[in-house]
Amino acid sequence: MSTRLRRLITGAEIESAVQKLASAIKKDYRHKNPLLIGILKGSFVFMADLVRRLDMPLEIDFVRLSSYGSGTESSGRIRMPGKMTETVEGRHVIVVEDIIDTGLTTAWFLRYIKRRKPASVALCALSEKPARRSVDIKIAYLGFSVPDKFIVGYGIDFKERYRNLPEIYYIE
Ligand code: 5GP
Repeated sequence: MSTRLRRLITGAEIESAVQKLASAIKKDYRHKNPLLIGILKGSFVFMADLVRRLDMPLEIDFVRLSSYGSGTESSGRIRMPGKMTETVEGRHVIVVEDIIDTGLTTAWFLRYIKRRKPASVALCALSEKPARRSVDIKIAYLGFSVPDKFIVGYGIDFKERYRNLPEIYYIE
């Protein structure tokens, strides 16, 4: 079966969205030395672009999360292989996600962070699929709402491919 990619979001649209998110975060966190935690692998490109637009003190960490179960569906049973290197207690945490689909993965991680007594927690997501949400989560900083399609590019993969594409596509 051949895979056809259709462009959904251009590089210019991504750049402008990242700039807007950075401006909003700067306004809210300027004197708070936030800890940005990126969810791997998908958030690595977004995180890199975002932090380069945040000219203020901040720290970053990454975690790897994976969902049990098969294929492209999140089962809601999450595993976190490896550990965080930074301490969350007392910190202003911003969780940085590539895409929020059902929301189960993010909801699990937000609970994990909240148990560790941060000063505050907020969510920054490059994209979300509102049609598929099954848990209620507040996205304080959102780039794009996308249709119910399988997207790739700008860090986001299909079977580990396409992460290097600078724009966002959906698979037909
Ligand atoms: P959730 O737990 O919100 O249902 O799933 C979140 C995870 O599912 C994302 O971090 C991502 O790994 C994967 N996912 C959901 N939708 C898409 C999509 O359209 N494209 C890709 N590549 N991954 C997706």
